[in-house]
Amino acid sequence: MSNYIVLVKQVPDVTQITDNAFDPETGTLIRSRLASVINELDSQALAFANRMRADSNDKNAKIIALTMGPPMAEEVLRYSLSRCADITVLLTDRALGGADTWATANPLAFAIRKIVKEILGESDDYYVISGMQSVDGDTAQVPPQIAEELDLPCIAYATDAEFKNNRFEFTRIISGGSQTVTPKKLPVIVTVAKYEFPLFATFAKTRRANEMEIINWGSEDIRATHIGVKGSKTRVIRVFPPGKSTRKCQQASDAESLAGLLVDSFKDSAAQTGQSTAEKKTGYTLPHSRSDKFDRSFEGTKKENEDFKILADKLKELGITDTTNIDDTNRQKILSSAGEHFHKKALEDMLNGLQLTGPTFEGEVWVVAELSKGSIHPATFELIGKARELADSLETKVGVCLAGYKLEPMAKELIAAGADNIYIIDDELLDEFDPAAHRKAVADAIAKYWPQIVLYAATPQGRMLAPLVSYRVGCGLTADCTSLDIRDSSRKGQIGILFQTRPALGGNVMATICTKNSKSQMATARPGVMKRLPPDTKRTGKIIKHKVLLTDDDVSLNIIKTELGTGEVNFGAEIIVSGGKGMQNRDNYEKLVGSLSDALEKQFDTKVERGASRAAVEQGFIDRVHQVGQTGTAIGPKLYFALGISGAIQHMIGVANTETIVAVNSDPNAPIFKYSDYYIVGNVEDTVPKLVKALETK
Ligand SMILES: Cc1cc2nc3c(=O)[nH]c(=O)nc-3n(C[C@H](O)[C@H](O)[C@H](O)COP(=O)(O)OP(=O)(O)OC[C@H]3O[C@@H](n4cnc5c(N)ncnc54)[C@H](O)[C@@H]3O)c2cc1C
Repeated sequence: MSNYIVLVKQVPDVTQITDNAFDPETGTLIRSRLASVINELDSQALAFANRMRADSNDKNAKIIALTMGPPMAEEVLRYSLSRCADITVLLTDRALGGADTWATANPLAFAIRKIVKEILGESDDYYVISGMQSVDGDTAQVPPQIAEELDLPCIAYATDAEFKNNRFEFTRIISGGSQTVTPKKLPVIVTVAKYEFPLFATFAKTRRANEMEIINWGSEDIRATHIGVKGSKTRVIRVFPPGKSTRKCQQASDAESLAGLLVDSFKDSAAQTGQSTAEKKTGYTLPHSRSDKFDRSFEGTKKENEDFKILADKLKELGITDTTNIDDTNRQKILSSAGEHFHKKALEDMLNGLQLTGPTFEGEVWVVAELSKGSIHPATFELIGKARELADSLETKVGVCLAGYKLEPMAKELIAAGADNIYIIDDELLDEFDPAAHRKAVADAIAKYWPQIVLYAATPQGRMLAPLVSYRVGCGLTADCTSLDIRDSSRKGQIGILFQTRPALGGNVMATICTKNSKSQMATARPGVMKRLPPDTKRTGKIIKHKVLLTDDDVSLNIIKTELGTGEVNFGAEIIVSGGKGMQNRDNYEKLVGSLSDALEKQFDTKVERGASRAAVEQGFIDRVHQVGQTGTAIGPKLYFALGISGAIQHMIGVANTETIVAVNSDPNAPIFKYSDYYIVGNVEDTVPKLVKALETK
């Protein structure tokens, strides 16, 4: 008999944001002003577990819902009881508050151990099921980190579980397709990416749920090793509102006027470059390489830059021209002279900071390469471009960690893209991506060479591997960054540290985070945001072979089937016309995407390629290789048409670098309109033929 431990979380309802939820001064979202709900993917995880229990016909199997949060998080446990849970556990304690993903995963793992011991009678026959990520954090890091703490296999991004031959086969999302796997052993952690068969509460079940007892545990009960702010390995430096979209968001009244706008915009080669948060050069140099030794213009905040400027002016007034002159006698002079501006402690911290000239972390800047269909994933090259810039600022080298099988021929391409050292872990057992085996290989290399920064692509594979590796080597990790910069925090004694900026709360706020209590600073970065460098085949680099002892026992999953797109697609085309689920069927897709592509090709005398959303691919409208987005291809054409596409973040990530985005959608509130330059509210069946006609007559 298998049991199910389902992780549920209470989150702010980011789908219902009222105006008063924003702080008028800072423009950031005030979390406490939002209603609290169960994280949608966790409610799907409950339904997923319930389906598994029903399909395995295990009448005695128990569903235990576990949550960590304030006392009011009890509400999500009552929700769970009213749907399908039999037992619920609330882990609540002030000491657990303010935790990052490390210090969240750790106590949850200890709570699972206690559940297994005290409720499941030490049985190993259980599944831990959770949503793939929560809407407030959006990191997808906690479940793999729990898996690492408990030494369990982890199957991330599951969309289905089928009971066959007395075991479950899980289907999950992977880059470029999907895969069916089984764990080699139980227990296993499964994260649910999509399971849209909601459970509903009945009146009787709700009444029962309100009467049932909830088990309450505090931090003393579980005795976790890393909790709260102290146990965290990252700290938030600042939270700020997301920049305004640079998209025009202009509604066209009809197809005729849209055609006119398109002709103008396409011919204007200086068209907007889109809302991408694409990279600005940091221009950072280490203090020892700055011409002015008192230059502290790369501090983390504007206020710190200003404070150091005031101090530098004071020092110059006192005739102190070098940081080596800040001796005990001069310190007294400075303290009395600058005392009107700063508190004594702050001033001392600044003076100590001024004397630091080299970087706080040492080692190379690494990229963990991702392989897809036997070649290197484009996101790896983008990360190498970013790593090159960071490494140049830090006066160090770019390393690429490449784990797989028969890899040496790939090194050349990585060096041409900007890498200096290629660390190759070559083993037949790494031929297919297995989270546990790859985690062992990559973590082993990191623990030998200790790079100061490690970057992974925020693809399903990278977002799975990074938390496993970082937890294993004891380092903090920031998910899904859209910007990476080197900055100083001189007052805290930190020079040349990685500022990791990412969207949070469903993109409603941005947060800049840095790593603490770690030997390496680690981040996953969104594909399509960083820029690949033009290949330089004259560059030279070194191949370093790293041997890791791997056995069959290190492989955690049996891969039953992998489905990847095949065929050639020219996503380098200047115009891409994509169809989504709103195309309704394959015939419509063929007819409407085809006719619009032909009309655009003629009007603009350029190549046009067809694209699709993941939902359209899943509906069979077109082959998978045409999928655009996080698990499809990230593209950057001049003109992108989204026909019947809602604008999910995983789709929009893939088109961030597009110059002009045009959307046709029948829903006046479709999210895609916020990301578009021009749009028409209307159904595709009527609008597209009119647009084709208008383009033909232009
Ligand atoms: C880990 C992960 C990775 C993912 N990767 C990707 C990815 O790479 N690419 C991707 O696209 N998605 C990806 N997704 C899925 C993504 O979350 C969305 O589910 C998907 O993009 C939705 O596709 P869609 O907009 O076509 O469908 P829907 O969200 O169903 O939207 C259909 C739209 O069509 C409109 N519509 C309906 N009928 C008409 C009509 N007659 N005329 C005009 N409009 C109409 C509707 O108003 C709606 O807005 C991923 C999800 C996960 C969890």
